[in-house]
This record gives sequence, C-alpha cells and structure tokens, in this order.
Amino acid sequence: MLYKAFLIKYAEIGLKGKNRWVFENALRDQVQYHLDKIGEYRVLREQGRIYVECPGQYDYDETVEALSKVFGVSAICPVCVIENPAWDNLIGKVGDFVKEVYGDREFTFKVEAKRADKQYPVTSPEICAGMGEYLLGRFPNARVDVRNPMERIVVEIRNQAYVYSQVLPGPGGMPVGTGGKAMLLLSGGIDSPVAGYLTAKRGVCVEAVYFHAPPYTSERAKQKVIDLARIISAYTGPIRLYVVNFTDPQLLIYEKCPHEELTIIMRRYMMRIAQTLAEKDGCMALATGESIGQVASQTLHSLYATNAVCTMPVLRPVISYDKQEIVTVAERIGTYETSILPYEDCCTIFVAKHPVTKPVLKVIERSEERLGEEMEKLVEEAIRTAEVLTV
Ligand code: ATP
Ligand code: MG
Repeated sequence: MLYKAFLIKYAEIGLKGKNRWVFENALRDQVQYHLDKIGEYRVLREQGRIYVECPGQYDYDETVEALSKVFGVSAICPVCVIENPAWDNLIGKVGDFVKEVYGDREFTFKVEAKRADKQYPVTSPEICAGMGEYLLGRFPNARVDVRNPMERIVVEIRNQAYVYSQVLPGPGGMPVGTGGKAMLLLSGGIDSPVAGYLTAKRGVCVEAVYFHAPPYTSERAKQKVIDLARIISAYTGPIRLYVVNFTDPQLLIYEKCPHEELTIIMRRYMMRIAQTLAEKDGCMALATGESIGQVASQTLHSLYATNAVCTMPVLRPVISYDKQEIVTVAERIGTYETSILPYEDCCTIFVAKHPVTKPVLKVIERSEERLGEEMEKLVEEAIRTAEVLTV
C-alpha cells in the first residue's frame, strides 16, 4: 500500500480566531466518527492540521469516500510515509513514490519542503533543490516549473518523512455539531433532502419531521422518507426522525377551508407542529426545501403567509436554486434515485386545482378561525402520537 496516512486540510476553520481549537477538535471527532464505521483509524490533531493514520490493511477507495463525506474537510491528501528520513534513503523513496504516482506521463513539478525536525541536517531549501535535481535526473518525463507546476510534491520531515502530491476535494463546510441544531421538514421529494444536506454542511445538526396521512399516503411513501433520511445521515450523522400522523388535521382543513387555500393552511400547520417539536428538542431553526416560485405554495406571497406562524428562523438553503441545480446536488449526494420513486406524498392528494398564488395573510387567518378548538386538539394529538425513529 503506497499511502499509509491522509492529511486533512480545512479552509474556513482556519479563519476562526480564539475558538479555532473548538472547530479543530470537532473536525477531528467527525473524521474519527466517519472512519470508525469502516475500520480502526487513528485521527490526530497536531500543529494546526489533522492526520489520519491508516491501519495495516485498509481499503483506499472506501477511506477516501468516507473522508469526502465529512463536512469541514476542504481537501484530502493521501500521504506516503517514509520511516527512515535519512537523506540518502529519502531521495530514493520519494523517487519511487513519484514513479508509482506519475509513471511515464509528462508533468511539471515543484518540490516543497517542511522541516518540523530542525535537527535534520538538510535545510528546507536544500531539500527542495536536492530533491528537484534528483527527480529531474531520474525522470525524463518530468520538468521543473516553480511558478505554475502541475504537481506540487510536498516533503515533510518529522521523526519520519511524509510525502504527498495529490489533493482530492472534500465537501467543504463546517464540522457537524459546531452550528447548533435545526429541524428539517423532510418530505419524499427532491428538494428537502438536499436542504438537509446543505444545512448540515454549515455545521448544523439535523433532526427531521415527516408528515404522513395514512391511508391516503402509503407505508412505502413513509419508508422512502426513512431511506432518504438514512442517505443524508451518511453526511449529517444520526438523524432523529419524527413521523407525524397528519391525516385528521388535514381532513379537517379539507372540510372547513376554501380549497384554493388548502396547501397554504396545511403548510402553516406543518410549520407549527415542526416548531413545537423543534423547541422541545432545543433546535434553533426549522429547515425546508422551498425554492422561490417553484410551485404555488412557494411564491414569495405564499412563503410570507407560511412563515407568519414561525417564531424561529426558517433555513431555506435551496431558496435561490433552480430545479436543475437542486437535482445536480441530489444526484451527487445520492438522494435523487430515491426521491423520484413515484410514491404519493400527502400534499399531492389534498391539492386544489387552482391554489392561490398570492394568498393574503388576513384572509388565510380568517379561514383558519373556522377550524376552532377542534384543530387545536388534533394538533396536540398529532404531536403526542408522533413516532420517533433514529436513522
Ligand atoms: P420536496 O421536493 O422537498 O418535497 P416540493 O418541491 O415537493 O419539495 P412542497 O411540497 O411545496 O415542495 O414542500 C415544500 C417543503 O415543505 C419541502 O421541501 C419540505 O421541506 C416541506 N414539506 C412538504 N411536504 C412535507 C411532508 N409531507 N413532510 C415534511 N415536510 C414536508
Ligand atoms: Mg414535496
């Protein structure tokens, strides 16, 4: 195995001031958490960087895949460890490394040296110059370009030597857990799983709530939501998922309110219930997959009417995304295939032919008055009987 370690680079955390260590520790813990799922890795935080030491036998692709799901990681550098850093041994081993990684292909390079061990008899500039010369002599396909090299070959001297040149992209963002907690309204559609992913990307822990309406919505529709929660949990960590039975509130709305207002009123009740669950669990925000203008219930007028029942911030990470942009993310994170399975969700059954696109808040509120105390009871019941799953 060429690589025995990974150097984890992070971008934004580096900008933090005094509490930078909080973010670094959180990132280390997150990296460890994701790697614990696949094997015994040691994750170390030292001198403003995070190192992963791999076990003797490990799967390279699986490891890179796991690391690429850790928010806060901006880049992943597979590292070749050279146990004996003595100069004569080092140059040959770095040469072998270059041979294995680049083979016969033409490339330009630059050597960068970092000497953490100041006792090491060769200085950093000498390492760069000597190593460059050696590599040029050994590889006719290599040329030096210090200004704009195709490859930066980094050699670090500690008690061992570390060599790396590849920089694989990480997902960016902030380590989950550093940004509080939000309650995601998770439906079986394309948008809300993406919204959950993007919320967690900023370091926010995610809980979720799904409203189902049996027998109008099936067990399979519910299972689809559980599956989606499971897919995004690969990034977010375990998700507490509330499944709220929304049938009775929905039927009452259907019976008492003007049909063109159904969706807005329903969405206002979803928000109210989500907010109650969120407050109970210490969430600081709700999160949805709404995008301006995508459907009647997502015009700015509709968002205004829906939002009016919320006292906590509502995160809408895909608010400005076009559908295709959301789909692109969904495909990349692996939710798309599941999202497009054709099971009905509760909104599609109770939708009006001509929903209002410019609801007036006062009018909506007046319609809701018709629901009376009966609705309060149904909402309480829905909250009380919510099923809680950990995914
Ligand atoms: P999605 O693809 O996320 O289902 P959508 O385009 O179908 O979104 P709507 O049905 O208008 O849009 O829903 C807007 C948002 O409201 C969703 O992104 C989701 O956050 C929330 N939502 C809708 N239906 C449900 C539900 N049954 N359970 C939980 N949240 C829901
Ligand atoms: Mg939907």
